[in-house]
Amino acid sequence: MSAADGRVLRTEKLVDHGDPARRWNLVILAEGFREPEMPQFRAACARFIDQLFATPPFNELWCAINIYCVDVASDESGADDPNPCADGDNGSGLSARTYFDATYCTAGLGRLLAGNQALALATAQAAVPQVRATIGIVNSSRYGGAGGGVAWFSTHASASQIGIHELGHSAFHLTDEYTDARDNSTGGEPTAPNATTDTNRATTKWRDLILPATPLPTMSNPNCANSDNRPSPVAAGTVGLFEGCDRSRCGAYRAEHDCYMRTLGTPFCSVCRRAIRNVLKPFMPQQVAPSVGVQFSDTLAAAETRRWFTHSWPACWQVCWTAIPRNPGLSGPTLELRVRTERASRELVTYWLDITNRSAAAVEFDARYEILSRD
Ligand SMILES: [Zn+2]
Repeated sequence: MSAADGRVLRTEKLVDHGDPARRWNLVILAEGFREPEMPQFRAACARFIDQLFATPPFNELWCAINIYCVDVASDESGADDPNPCADGDNGSGLSARTYFDATYCTAGLGRLLAGNQALALATAQAAVPQVRATIGIVNSSRYGGAGGGVAWFSTHASASQIGIHELGHSAFHLTDEYTDARDNSTGGEPTAPNATTDTNRATTKWRDLILPATPLPTMSNPNCANSDNRPSPVAAGTVGLFEGCDRSRCGAYRAEHDCYMRTLGTPFCSVCRRAIRNVLKPFMPQQVAPSVGVQFSDTLAAAETRRWFTHSWPACWQVCWTAIPRNPGLSGPTLELRVRTERASRELVTYWLDITNRSAAAVEFDARYEILSRD
């Protein structure tokens, strides 16, 4: 029931894009894993990281992100799972002595799974002082999660998706785009970047992304007692004003027909992608003074083409290649270089260099690189 029910074992940097002072640092905490179960926690971390990389726009902003996992051992496995729960979504009745004391049925909602937020934030801060967002993976196969200051989610099969949705709340200040709570929006214009009550084309929140030909509202809900689940009247990806957002069935609007903040596993809409980019962009590696060098030197016979490769270059680096003859006196275009690339892993690139000697004489050359950015 408290931090006495376990201990912090170690922290490991699983995605490393450099100095944490310059990156956006995500910390993943283990909750409800006993020490011998730490490999299962690491496997859940790896699944989450794969899922995050596969979700635009995180792939294009990957070099801004460091990810750490903190092995926190609990005395017992799982999470508290009250039975009965006020909303009728009853759990198993299990009570587990875990480090962050995570429990389902938070606020009387069976699927709302959360732990001790203050302790989680303090644990993440102690592990990585420059932490920007904290996630807790809870060792329970039952569906559940919660946003707030910490994004919590269980090891249920779609848990990685819950984690990304909850990160939308806790790290990027996005609101839900689903409509489960009320008939009509209350409280005026939402502060979240992905919800608006303003249907005026000249003033609405994401007006710069709405084409003049797109009708506003783009879709209105005919019955505020029900969620509007009809298909979109416009092409997928069209930005407009779709009624039903921020948990209200009427009066609040979302930017696209569907979004990760509405349906798990759906691509983030343009407005949510932009909000995520705005947070992460300042942490991308900046262009530095170029660093240059010769990767290899060799000789090509007249009219010969040969292929070289050079592997394990960080995918975050911007690298250009040139092939320059060493012997003077050959007039006209002499060497032709074709560069092809292979993403060998999430973090590493292989460059394939096909170099052709277009002259009638043997040519010695240097294959040069220019590294335009690396941190
Ligand atoms: Zn969205």
